Parts: sequence; structure tokens; C-alpha cells
Amino acid sequence: MTGTLTIVGLGPGTPEWITPAAQAAVDVATDIVGYGPYVDRVPERDGRTKHASDNRVEVERASHALRLAAQGRKVAVVSGGDPGVFAMAAAVFEALEAGPTEWLAIPIAVEPGITAMLAAAARAGAPLGGDFCAISLSDNLKPWEVVTRRLEAALAADFVICLYNPISKARPWQLGAALELAVKQREAATPVLFARAIGRPDENLRVLTLAEAVAAAGTADMATLVMIGASNTRLVAREGGRPYVYTPRSVTKSPCATSQGRT
Ligand code: SAH
Repeated sequence: MTGTLTIVGLGPGTPEWITPAAQAAVDVATDIVGYGPYVDRVPERDGRTKHASDNRVEVERASHALRLAAQGRKVAVVSGGDPGVFAMAAAVFEALEAGPTEWLAIPIAVEPGITAMLAAAARAGAPLGGDFCAISLSDNLKPWEVVTRRLEAALAADFVICLYNPISKARPWQLGAALELAVKQREAATPVLFARAIGRPDENLRVLTLAEAVAAAGTADMATLVMIGASNTRLVAREGGRPYVYTPRSVTKSPCATSQGRT
């Protein structure tokens, strides 16, 4: 008998931000597989087995989930945010591609979740109103030169840039290096968000300038999403609170063309 495998996005942290479809996929699962803190978000109940693992063993964890599904179990692989964004969905397909052909008969579904950059943007105002991109600063799975090249291209193209995995104990300098690259191409007053643990009890959103962000790089951590504004990203002051941050939908001139002397 073949079971099923659903890769589920649990959203940024608060249960209100889990979609009903993702919740239903977790509710019917006999086995919950994932990184410890995400598995912990799923309550214990009779008939449910939880398989928590370390953060670094994604493909191994994915193979384990596929083996369970091949044995007839209803498996939910859980990720924070959206499972397709720097998370388990790609690891499952990587394991599937490399695994035994029987696994191709397993019905696999992906249930989306609210990814960190959308949660952070919603809290801040509308910083993703124009074109934007997302880059993981982790160089565990790609060389730092690739990160640098992509960052420089995104900066030159004037995208709002969302930085996932900005910093960790094992990767202490990458965020500072990325912000230094940004300083070369963007104004010092460009708004930068440090959005930490959005949707969790210890949520914290800071609106900084790019110059302040360079100095504050060491205060970010693994639970932080960093967002660098584009040339037209701006603040709207409000009484008694931090300003709203938004990026207008319209762009009238091309800063990238200007910087290359083409206008
Ligand atoms: N699949 C996840 C991202 C995994 S990569 C998603 O879609 O959100 C892990 C990175 O995501 C963290 O280093 C951090 O940059 C970001 N992140 C995840 N949850 C977050 C939250 N609640 N608040 C802010 N950033 C978060």
C-alpha cells in the first residue's frame, strides 16, 4: 500500500497564519517529519508519530519521509513559512530524483504557507509594492561568490531585496558584507527592515537606514529577515509609532540605466 506525502508550510509562527488547507494536511497525517522547532508546533495526539531532526539534514529527512510514505503512512513534512522557499519542498524533490523508482508512485502535494518576507512586509506597510527578489545569504549550499554576484545584480537592477538566512553563529560576517555591497550602490538613507520572529511572541520589527543597518548587522540573528529598500522605497510618518514603509507601484526613471551612464 502506498501512502501520501504532503509538504506543509506552517507560516511564520502564529497559528492564525496557517492556511486551513495546511492545517487539514497536518490533521490527517499519521507522521510528522521536520526540523525540531517546526515539529514541536504540531500537538501530540494518539496515532500520530513525530520525527524531529536536526536543521542540516534536509535530504536525509526527506528520504526518511518518502520511505514512510512508501510503507503506507500519511506523512506531513513541515516547514516554517512556505515549504517551497529555501525549505523542505526542494529537498523532497531532490531525494525523489535520487531515490528508488517506486517512490515516483507516491502522491506528493505541497501546501503553501505565508513566507517570512510577506509576513514582514505586511507588518511594515507595503515595501514589496514594486519589483523585488529574495536571496538566501547562506553559503552552506552555494559558494559565496554566487551570493555576491546575485546581490550585485539585484542591487544594480534596483530590486527591493529580501535576505533570508542573514546570519548565524557559523556565518557571522555575511550580512555585514552584503550590506557593505548595498552601500556601494544605494543611498545611505535607503530604508532597511530588520524583521525578527514575525508572528511569534518575541516579534520585533526595526526600520533603519542603510547606514544604520551596516552598523547594526551584528544585532540580526537567524530569526531575522532583512529587507533592503529600492531607490523609491519610502517612509510615511505616523503618530506614536514607527513609520510605514512602502514602495510605490510606479517607477518613472531607471536608476540602473543612470548608474551605467545610459541616460
Ligand atoms: N521557508 C521559510 C524560510 C526558511 S529560511 C519561509 O518561507 O519563511 C530561514 C530564514 O527565514 C530565517 O533565517 C529568516 O531569515 C527567515 N524567517 C523565517 N521565519 C521568520 C519569521 N517568523 N520572522 C522573520 N524571518 C523569518
